Amino acid sequence: MARPARSTVRYRIAPADPHAHVFEVVLEVDSPDPAGQVFALPAWIPGSYMIREFARHVSGLQARQGRRRLTVDKLDKHTWRVAPCAGTLTLSYRVYAWDLSVRAAHLDGTHGFFNATSVFLRVAGREWEPCDVRIDPPPADQASDWRVATTLPRAGARAWGFGDYRADSYDELADHPVEMGRFAQTRFEVAGVPHDVVVTGRHDTDFERLKRDLAAICEAQVRLFEPRGAHAPFDRYLFLTMAVGDGYGGLEHRASTALICARQDLPYPGMKGVPDGYRTFLGLASHEYFHSWHVKRIKPAAFASYDLDRENYTRLLWIFEGFTSYYDDLMLVRSGVIAASDYLKALAGTISQVHRGPGRSVQSVAESSFDAWIKYYRQDENSPNTVVSYYAKGALVALCLDLEIRARTEGRRSLDDVMRLLWRRYGRDFDERREGLAEDGFADLVHEATGCELSASIHDWAHGTQELPLAELLARMGVSLTFATPDEDAPSMGVRWTSRGGDLVVGVAFTDGPAMRAGLSAGDAVVAVDGLRVGDERTLKALLARRQRGDRVSVHAFRRDELMRFDVRLGAAAPTEATLSFAGQPEPAQRRWRRGWLGTDGIEPAGKPAAAG
Ligand code: ZN
Repeated sequence: MARPARSTVRYRIAPADPHAHVFEVVLEVDSPDPAGQVFALPAWIPGSYMIREFARHVSGLQARQGRRRLTVDKLDKHTWRVAPCAGTLTLSYRVYAWDLSVRAAHLDGTHGFFNATSVFLRVAGREWEPCDVRIDPPPADQASDWRVATTLPRAGARAWGFGDYRADSYDELADHPVEMGRFAQTRFEVAGVPHDVVVTGRHDTDFERLKRDLAAICEAQVRLFEPRGAHAPFDRYLFLTMAVGDGYGGLEHRASTALICARQDLPYPGMKGVPDGYRTFLGLASHEYFHSWHVKRIKPAAFASYDLDRENYTRLLWIFEGFTSYYDDLMLVRSGVIAASDYLKALAGTISQVHRGPGRSVQSVAESSFDAWIKYYRQDENSPNTVVSYYAKGALVALCLDLEIRARTEGRRSLDDVMRLLWRRYGRDFDERREGLAEDGFADLVHEATGCELSASIHDWAHGTQELPLAELLARMGVSLTFATPDEDAPSMGVRWTSRGGDLVVGVAFTDGPAMRAGLSAGDAVVAVDGLRVGDERTLKALLARRQRGDRVSVHAFRRDELMRFDVRLGAAAPTEATLSFAGQPEPAQRRWRRGWLGTDGIEPAGKPAAAG
């Protein structure tokens, strides 16, 4: 059936006052609920599991029918009700947009960005109806040369233009962020699908290099999920990139991603190799692209239909975020963009990250997933003691599963087969009667995809807090894992240090560490050790290097502006820093397995630089 010319729910947004960071929104609804029409702004945005209460930036909300003002009742922090009403109801309001992140909305004289979840009220009961969206330009005297970048389907707007767009539902509307401004843009194709890269902010990006590397990574992912046919699940894809002085973040969407990165992490003309910053950026882009399959289409049952008013609980984020974190860097090496040795360095970084916090022996990744809303996303000075990252440890669980399956099947099966079955069952051939991956459905699916019965291991790794068998599994690939202490063998106070206004401050006092046992606490400003002033971490480390484990030192620190003295008995630093290396000459079978795992056997020809320049 042809779509009617006009939807019965119509949004109009204008970057009306960029200097005040204000978007103006008008919402028209035909045939509102005569008994009272309810509107609500989401409390959170899918992909970022924290209640953010976007409604706190809404002001001046009014309702009219024709010229008549209607009564608006506020029902709770993000819900409004207009009653009585009939005919066509018009709502207007302003949204303050000054959150420079990928999760909300931002507007100034240089650009605008928004997610629908920050600016467009849902019309209760009408969420599954199509809606029209008109995006207006800023006032002509402020910016006449802005363009629009979004994967929201066009309905009259010219490519990259202001004007009319549409969405089939609120769910779709919420999944296509919009950027407007004077961005740079380039395009490449993967699997016959145009992929655009838009960069906002000042930068000197080598777009040819960026296109080449991103194309290789995207190609590898399309082929992972669809080895035959190499078919992408979208008909265009957009990397919306905000380049800033210092920043890092990304949010996944069904046909795009919003990224924020440090401008020096983008590749520049003449850049050699893959500097760490650029690898970080590519890993981020790879991560969000992987989500187009894994979490945007393959979903936990708990996310089959989001409840945007409140927390949506699942114990499976270690699969949806953790596996994505495993594959993001893995895809860099499999696509040939980084060398195997650089991949091992990145993987060692993930292992170190998990081992630096005692939280891994307190919380499981399943618990961390469930409590993401109040713990992982709301970290404080005690989080390293009690919280484990379902991203980092989830990636290591994925690694263990992958290597275990490869070992048991002599390299014939792998986690790739699990991902493909997830895709076929819950993504590509998804049957609406199914509800997404059940909370307890993963082990059976692994068995079905690989023939390996791993339910006990999966249970231990996901629901337990014991150490993962990393060294043993990596050894089968001919990769050795060693741990060292961060500062050689210098004695330790068991503290993560930070600085505040020129003071050396306890950032984290680790559970049962020497500092905590002596009574030092996060926030304490340490001014002297053994009567000698310490103004920074370097001075402190030089001082501790001259002491032995077991020595007692006298620490003076300010807490609440009161000078206190602590008697600290120095301990041994934990060996948290992981190093991975290819060990000796691999067996022929190991070389074959490594090629299946990494796309290379890791034996680099002598004299060849690590990766393409
Ligand atoms: Zn993610």
